[in-house]
Amino acid sequence: MVEICFLGTGGSVATPDRDNTSFILNVGRSASQKSAVLKSVREESSGQSRTGEINPSLTGSEREAGQKLILVDCPGAIIHKMKKLGLRPQDVRSILVTHIHPDHIYGLPSLVHSLMLDEGLIRLYGSEETVEFCRSFLDFFSLRTDRIKTKVDFFPLKPDQTIKLNELDDIDNKSNTAASPEAVEIKVFSVPHHSSSLAYHFWFGKETKATDSEGRSFSETSPVKKKTKESTKADDSAGGAAQELPAKKTNAQTDTGDTNSSELSHKKIIQMIYSGDTAADAALFKKARNVDYLIHDSSSPSRIFAEYPVLYTMHTHSLDLGRLAQEAGVKWLIPCHFFGEVEFSISEIEREIRKNYKGHLLIPKDFMRFKL
Ligand SMILES: [Zn+2]
Ligand SMILES: [Zn+2]
Repeated sequence: MVEICFLGTGGSVATPDRDNTSFILNVGRSASQKSAVLKSVREESSGQSRTGEINPSLTGSEREAGQKLILVDCPGAIIHKMKKLGLRPQDVRSILVTHIHPDHIYGLPSLVHSLMLDEGLIRLYGSEETVEFCRSFLDFFSLRTDRIKTKVDFFPLKPDQTIKLNELDDIDNKSNTAASPEAVEIKVFSVPHHSSSLAYHFWFGKETKATDSEGRSFSETSPVKKKTKESTKADDSAGGAAQELPAKKTNAQTDTGDTNSSELSHKKIIQMIYSGDTAADAALFKKARNVDYLIHDSSSPSRIFAEYPVLYTMHTHSLDLGRLAQEAGVKWLIPCHFFGEVEFSISEIEREIRKNYKGHLLIPKDFMRFKL
């Protein structure tokens, strides 16, 4: 099970509804454990206010079970947002940083400072420039001294380098008896935005799992919602239940948008690319050919770029994104990093993407979570 939890979906200027783009990948908790957490969070939010404790309604064993969380970019009050989603900040094992613009990194000192009393190790990944910056950034606040119990290890990555996150995790977590996490393999590559920029290409999971005609996995008992006719999702249940997406088909099958047919499908490795901030880049879309999920810069509608052509060198507008994603055969497109400093509506973004893109479109909102 891999779950994405959006902590933010906006550009560098936040709005009342959207903070800077960042998200959590939860790769290590079973569905039943997660629903227990969600239940506890709902009970907590509907009951009396409580302070001073992390997820007080979790039982001891649930706390010990631990999740394996990967934080992707680190702006703003990460701790606050994670707690709002019922996630333990202590469970962040890795941070992947796309580049060193403030809206992607300024929350890092606060995150480490908030964890100063918790024994832990966070592995931070990024380009050499990014990693060097982050190290200095933490030193600026004396956050790599002995009194800080959460340590940060730095892993500089070169373009086209591949890493396997869980192999590294297992070195330190041999006694962890929690549900075995998904294997996560990542390959990074450069994108045209900033000298420190890297995009991340993920491969999740290795197992083959049969599903029945209702899309239920044989190894799970929780029902999977049938796909609705509407394939554009813009869930407004902030902080609510995780959203179930329809069961995926294998790459070899034609995606007709109908997932209710009676057949035996096999779960394959899930591929996802996160672009970070980037100009529209042919090389990225070559890598994105037939990927299951593409989370991509969709900073504004095209008319804003016409007004400020310099944007073409740094970001992607929704018309280009829809066209390029369609050409690449992307199965699920997830646009993000919506500018907050210019006037447009999300429906304008949707309309522009839909002019060309025929696949599944998921327009995320802050605090939305869904399973891959
Ligand atoms: Zn940005
Ligand atoms: Zn940027």
